[in-house]
Amino acid sequence: MNSQKIFQQQFLEAGKLLASKKKIAVLTHTNPDGDAIGSLLGLGLFLKAMGHDVQVMTPNPYPEFLQWLPGNGEVVIFTRRKAKAIRIIEEAEIIFCLDFNASNRFEGLENCLQSAKGIKILIDHHPHPQPEYDLLFSNTSVSSTAELVYEFMEGTGKKDLITKEIAECLYVGIMTDTGNFSFNSSEMRTFEIVAALLNLGIEKDRIYSLVYDNFSENRMRLLGYCLSEKMVVLPEYHTAYISLNQEEQQRYKFDTGDSEGFVNYPLSIKGIIFSALLTEQKDKSIRISFRSKGSFATNVFAETHFEGGGHKNASGGKSLLPLNETISKFEALLPLFKKELEY
Ligand code: 5GP
Ligand code: MN
Repeated sequence: MNSQKIFQQQFLEAGKLLASKKKIAVLTHTNPDGDAIGSLLGLGLFLKAMGHDVQVMTPNPYPEFLQWLPGNGEVVIFTRRKAKAIRIIEEAEIIFCLDFNASNRFEGLENCLQSAKGIKILIDHHPHPQPEYDLLFSNTSVSSTAELVYEFMEGTGKKDLITKEIAECLYVGIMTDTGNFSFNSSEMRTFEIVAALLNLGIEKDRIYSLVYDNFSENRMRLLGYCLSEKMVVLPEYHTAYISLNQEEQQRYKFDTGDSEGFVNYPLSIKGIIFSALLTEQKDKSIRISFRSKGSFATNVFAETHFEGGGHKNASGGKSLLPLNETISKFEALLPLFKKELEY
């Protein structure tokens, strides 16, 4: 689906809204990933370059490997500065919501966001956007929200304002949401946009290295431990999972984002099409990441059984049961999906 065509009318409307100086809040989802932060910072810098009064915000902290990005120092993290975050949302004339499809993905500010008086604009590629937005740029066929943010910049006629710094942010979004172009990246348009970003002077190999080659020794050893000691493979269901309790995380001095990407590894085993990573949080609740290859819809699985959602092949959820009971629940569900989990 060609974003420039389908959003032609919305781009015009957004262009009109942005024609005069506005107070703007730009938000993204809880546990922000590369696409969330790349889109947030890229759009934030772009709106600033247009002359707007811009604040960018995340619900909670994000990993160090995203903290080198241009504009990182400006991010207001809700869990650290609650009063300021609430004021920003209440005072904003326009609120951009990036890489999420419902207010409850901004944990802690759901109500504040729902009752905010500013015009709400969604730019996102998740299925089922909620009907609470005034302007909707939702396209599930694009690689990433960062790609759609680029389309927004082009569609509103301000492409010339894209600097190398903005291009770096958008590239990180596209690179991370496609696993460095190994999935969700079969459309020509993604590469046309990447070409435009390269033309702005981004150094793609350096960016790759800053994001992916930055493990601490502890994080690398934790990955080794997960794969050799903690991965459970269930060939009958073409499924594998890894669980990590608090004691194990402390043993490896776990830091935010340290398990990022671990859930993908089991999918490299021949015959495995469904993978899960279950991590016990400090409050004992369990965060779960799901990944699949092919047709198995992990978002439906996450929505139906673990209060979550996301994309077909990449989703997440949670459980309030203890870790061992969550694992038992997960394992007990697999026979119900035996047909869908065929290889
Ligand atoms: P991750 O496993 O990397 O945390 O998340 C993978 C994908 O699932 C992301 O696109 C993210 O937005 C989505 N996701 C993760 N957790 C949740 C959740 O609790 N609810 C919903 N709706 N989506 C989630
Ligand atoms: Mn995304």
